[in-house]
Formats: sequence, C-alpha cells, structure tokens
Amino acid sequence: MHDNFSKYIDNKVFKVVSGQADELGLETYVIGGYVRDLILERSSKDIDIVTIGNGIKLATHVAKKLNSNIKVNVFKNFGTAQFKYKGTDLEFVGARKESYRKDSRKPVVEDGTIEDDQNRRDFTINALAISLNTDRFGVLIDPFGGVEDLEKKTIRTPLDPDVTFDDDPLRMMRGIRFATQLKFKIEKKTLDAITRNCDRIAIVSKERIVDELNKIMMSEKPSIGFKLMDNTGLLELIMPEVAALKGVEVVDGVGHKDNFMHTLKVLDRIAPNTQNLWLRWAALFHDVAKPLTKKYVDGLGWTFHGHNYVGSKVIPRIFRRIKLPLNDKMKFVQKMVNLHMRPIVLSEDEVTDSAVRRLLFEAGDDIDELMTLCEADITSKNEAKVKQYLSNFKLVRKKLKEIEEKDAVRNFQPPVKGEEIMDLFGIKPCREVGIIKNAIKEAILDGEIHNNYDEAYEFMLKKADELGLKRGG
Ligand code: ATP
Repeated sequence: MHDNFSKYIDNKVFKVVSGQADELGLETYVIGGYVRDLILERSSKDIDIVTIGNGIKLATHVAKKLNSNIKVNVFKNFGTAQFKYKGTDLEFVGARKESYRKDSRKPVVEDGTIEDDQNRRDFTINALAISLNTDRFGVLIDPFGGVEDLEKKTIRTPLDPDVTFDDDPLRMMRGIRFATQLKFKIEKKTLDAITRNCDRIAIVSKERIVDELNKIMMSEKPSIGFKLMDNTGLLELIMPEVAALKGVEVVDGVGHKDNFMHTLKVLDRIAPNTQNLWLRWAALFHDVAKPLTKKYVDGLGWTFHGHNYVGSKVIPRIFRRIKLPLNDKMKFVQKMVNLHMRPIVLSEDEVTDSAVRRLLFEAGDDIDELMTLCEADITSKNEAKVKQYLSNFKLVRKKLKEIEEKDAVRNFQPPVKGEEIMDLFGIKPCREVGIIKNAIKEAILDGEIHNNYDEAYEFMLKKADELGLKRGG
C-alpha cells in the first residue's frame, strides 16, 4: 500500500542527503527505527542512514552542506559518523554483513549490500529502508513484510528466530521491549524461540539489559513486558525475586492473593500518575519480600509481617546484581518500599493529626510519591472497600497539607540544637543530649508542642530538669 514515501521525507535533511549521495555516487537509504516510527506516526529524533560504501565520507559531505559549523563525530573503527542537526541525531554507516561467533555478541563485520544490512536487523519492523537517491527517492524496501507486521501489530524476526536470538540474545529483551512500548504481539514462532534461547541472556551485559528494563518500565503498560519475560523464562533469570512473587498457596482452604499479578496491577496503575522511573521501580518491588515473610497463622490467615522493612533491606542486593545505580535513587526506592503500608494503615484508623505528622516526618519531600504509590496499591476487587480507602486517602492528603502548613515537619530540623543544650548545661556530647533532643522531636510529632524555638526551648528546660541537669554544669 505504501510504496512511495517521498512525501514523508520531503524535508531539507533528506533532500541534502539525497543530493550528496547522488554526487558521491553512493546508493543510500534511511533505515530502521526511524522508518518504523514514520509509518507508526510516532515522533523520532534518531535518523539512521545507511550507504553502500563509505558512510563517514557521506556524513562529512552532508554535514558541510547543511551547515559548515556542524561538528561530525567519527568512529573510524566502526565505520560510522554522527552529528546533530536542529535537535535531530543523524548517524551514517556503510551497509554491512554480520556473522556471529557462539560466545560473544560482537559480530564479525564485512561490507555488504542493502539486503545484507536488512538481514542483520532484529525485527521485520526494524528492517525497513527507504531509498534516498533522486531516481528512487521515497521507494520503500521491505523484504520481510515489515509494513504488514506494523499493520498487524506483530513482532517477528526477519530470519530464523533461533539464529537471530542465538547470534545476539539482547534481541530477546528488545523484542519484549518493543511489544510493550508499541502494544504489539510477539509472533508465536518468535516467542517460542525466546523461550528456547532464554539462557543465552547470560552473555548480555547487565547495562544493556537494564536499558531495556527501564524502557519497559517507562511504557504505558509495563505489565505487558513483565508477563512476556515471565512466560519466556527471562524473568526468573534476570529478577528471580520478582518471579518468586508468583503463585497462590492454600492452607485450610484459605489462599492469599497472587503477589505477582497484584504487583503488575500496581505497576500499571501507577504508570498514568508518574513519569518518575524510580517510583515505578518502587512499585515493582513494593511487595518483593512477601515470599520471604509469608506465614500462615491459625485464626489470622496469611500474614506477611515486616515485608515492607525486609523488602527495603533486599533492594541493595537486587540493585547491585542487575546494575541499577547504588545511589540516592536506590535510597528513594528503599524508602518507598519501607513506607508503602503507612498511609493505608493510617487511613484504616481514625486519621489523627499526630499519625499524619509522623508520616510527614518520615516521608519528608517524598510524601507525594508515597501517596501515589499507596493509591496504586489499592487493587481490591471489592469496590466498596476501594472507595472507602480512596476517600480516606483524600482525607489523609488534606490533613497532610494542613499539618505541613501549621507545623512544617516535612524536612524536620531540631528547633533546639545539641550544641545549645551542651553550652547551657556545660556538658560534653552525652546520652542526656540525645534523650532531650529525641524528647523534643517526639513532643512535636505528638502535637504536645508546636515546631518552634520558644516552645521547644521551654520543653527542653523541663526535660533537663527531670534529668537532673543544672545550668552551667
Ligand atoms: P528506540 O530508538 O526506541 O530504541 P530503535 O529501533 O531506533 O528504537 P536503536 O537501538 O536506535 O533502536 O536501533 C536502530 C536500529 O538498529 C533498529 O531499528 C534495528 O534495525 C537495528 N538494531 C539495533 N539493535 C539491534 C540488534 N541488537 N540487533 C539487530 N538490529 C539492531
């Protein structure tokens, strides 16, 4: 149906590439993700140009013609060159043929034809090319039915999927990522090959896997990717802790919910409400310690006592293994996992000022994210219960605002400092200073005194008196 795409690429950049390619006598195409996204009407800022011959030479000529000030980055070893033009990233490469060895993702590369170059692409929808030379400007080269697959919303490898995935197992994760981002189905033969080859993921660098995981995470419906990873065996290999959430155990006819399915629901429910990648990771891990803390207690049923705390403790191990950053982002995820039950517990009882103040004290600036996680965590099938929780949450949010305005405990700083206490009573750092400071904090959080210097000072004098401290030592 679309055999001429000239109207889609009718702009200055492609016209200049076309003119320079003609002048240098180089057969040239725009290829891959850019063409896919053009047909899907998704915006794309990365243009890949492939030429039968010297890609670097073409890049330098095009850059010069577009604007003589453009800086071209040349990667001689790879035969590629790249530059930015008006916010678009252009990459040029000579067409190549690749063959693989068993133990590495690094192929042996030779010069090739456009067919060779399309053969080495991972999926039919990523193997589309459009001619740029003037005499064939806009002609689509689609040897594997990529356009039909775009219409049918199908992910499929151009060649035998077992070979494609064995050559470069990262493609398994890429396939699942595209299925998630585009909401496409993976063709059965391709999916079966991922299952057969899943063990090969072991030769892929952790960084590349995490890149794909992050893209799955940031999709509109991340559960698609996690279900596919689970069905193919990749989840067990990459994140066994998450795979362990699967299943329902029944004792005395009482079952608990399937924590994997629940987790995926939470992930999908949080997605429309946050673009914070780390909050989404927190949603994935919020119940990660449920299998570790699970117990059946007569009369009580299933309990997962302390799963939030234990969960926050296992996060560093998971982050280290899958190579997520071990920095403040991880700390944020730990904090969210640790506190994720608090607003729920709080809203089950009467929502008191002091409980809200304590929550605000512990969550600090992350309180809004925590509330977003908690709201997503309410997945009960009982609609009345969900309604009740959500309306209690509204109340919690309202009280959070009121209390923050009144008491400012969000980023609590002790109103009376330790040095002042030590100076006043002529003492060195000691247990008593800690006791007094803690008592002041508790009194503020309980609402006994307000969070200001004068009230805290008065309270401090009273407390010091109780401890038998005398002014001046
Ligand atoms: P996105 O920009 O969303 O990541 P993309 O398809 O443009 O999608 P890139 O990683 O920029 O992804 O790759 C550009 C093109 O290079 C792909 O469309 C595909 O044709 C090819 N490609 C990338 N990685 C591989 C791979 N591992 N195996 C085979 N072909 C690949």
